[in-house]
Amino acid sequence: MKASGFQYARPSSLEEACALLAEHGSDARVLAGGQSMFATLNLRLSAPSLLIDINRIEALKGIVLAEDASHVRIGALVRHAETASSPLVEQHLPLLHMAMRHVAHPAVRNRGTTCGSLALADPSAEMPACAITLDALLVLQSRDGGVREVPAVDYFFGLYETARQDDEILIEALYPACQPQEVFGFDELARRHGDFAMVGVALRASYAGGIISDLRLTTFGTDPMPILSTAAAALAQGQAWSVALGEEIARAAVAELNPDHNHFGSPEVKRLQAAALIRRVLAATFGAPADSTIPYGASHG
Ligand SMILES: Cc1cc2nc3c(=O)[nH]c(=O)nc-3n(C[C@H](O)[C@H](O)[C@H](O)COP(=O)(O)OP(=O)(O)OC[C@H]3O[C@@H](n4cnc5c(N)ncnc54)[C@H](O)[C@@H]3O)c2cc1C
Repeated sequence: MKASGFQYARPSSLEEACALLAEHGSDARVLAGGQSMFATLNLRLSAPSLLIDINRIEALKGIVLAEDASHVRIGALVRHAETASSPLVEQHLPLLHMAMRHVAHPAVRNRGTTCGSLALADPSAEMPACAITLDALLVLQSRDGGVREVPAVDYFFGLYETARQDDEILIEALYPACQPQEVFGFDELARRHGDFAMVGVALRASYAGGIISDLRLTTFGTDPMPILSTAAAALAQGQAWSVALGEEIARAAVAELNPDHNHFGSPEVKRLQAAALIRRVLAATFGAPADSTIPYGASHG
C-alpha cells in the first residue's frame, strides 16, 4: 500500500517547526527518522495532512554532558547509532549503552532517533523503559518558546499515549549522569536479536557496602506501557543481595503487571518470562548468575 497524500515542510528552525505544528494541530506530524512513521503512513494507520520534517534543525542535534556533569542531554535528532556509539553515553549513561545493543537493526538505527522512540512510546521499545528507570526529564516545546520538562514517569500513560500535546515537539531528553555507587542492569527476550522485545527489564540501584537502595526496576513489553515496580523498590531497600530476595522481588514485580494476550503469548507466559528475566537481571547486577532458564523455548535477545 502507499501513503495517502500529504503536504511536506522542512523548517530550519525550531520556532518555525513549532509554529507549523500549532497551526495544523492534530492534522500534522513531526517527522524525525521516519522509521516508524513511514510504516504507519504506508499501511494507512495514520493519514496526516502535513509532515513537518525536523531534520534540518541544528538545535536538535547532539549529545552533551552538562557543565556540572549532573546530566546528559540527548537532542531530538540524535540517531540510535549515535547514542549506541557515544563515549559520553557509555561513560555516563551505562544503562542506555547496555539497552542500545538491543534496539533494532543497523539500517533502522542509522536513521531512527532515540527521542523518536520516546515520542512514539511503543510498549516494547527499550528507550521508554530506560527513561523511566533513570528518571529522565523529557523536554517539550510549543509555539512562542513555551518549554516544559516532564518526568518520564509522568510522560508515558498508555498504549502509544504520552503527555505530549499535539502542538509540542519533544526537543531533548535529559538523563541524570550515573554516580559512583550506582549499578545498572538490562536484558530482554526477543524473537531475533534487534527485534522489539517480547519482555524486557531495566534496572538501576544504589549499591554500597553490599546494601541495595533506591532500586528502580522497570518491566516492558508486557503491558501497554513500561511498569516501574514500587513493590520491588520497597522489598530491596536496605537489603543485602540473596537469591531468596531476588525470588521475592520477581514475584512482587510480576504481580504488578497486567499483560495482554497478544501474538507473543498469553498473560501467563508473559508473567513467567518476566519473572525469569527479572531474576536474571537482578542476579547479574547484584550476585552470581541465577538459574533463570527462560520457559517455552524463547530465545535470549
Ligand atoms: C524493522 C524495525 C525494527 C525496529 N526495532 C526496534 C526495536 O527493537 N526497539 C525500538 O525501540 N525501536 C525499534 N524500531 C523503531 C525505531 O526505533 C524507530 O525509529 C523509533 O521508534 C522512532 O524514531 P524515528 O526517529 O524513526 O521516528 P519517526 O518514525 O520519524 O516518528 C515516529 C513517531 O514519533 C513522532 N515523533 C518523532 N520524533 C518526534 C519529536 N522529536 N517530537 C514529537 N514527535 C516526534 C512522529 O510524529 C511519529 O508519530 C524498529 C523499527 C523498524 C522499522
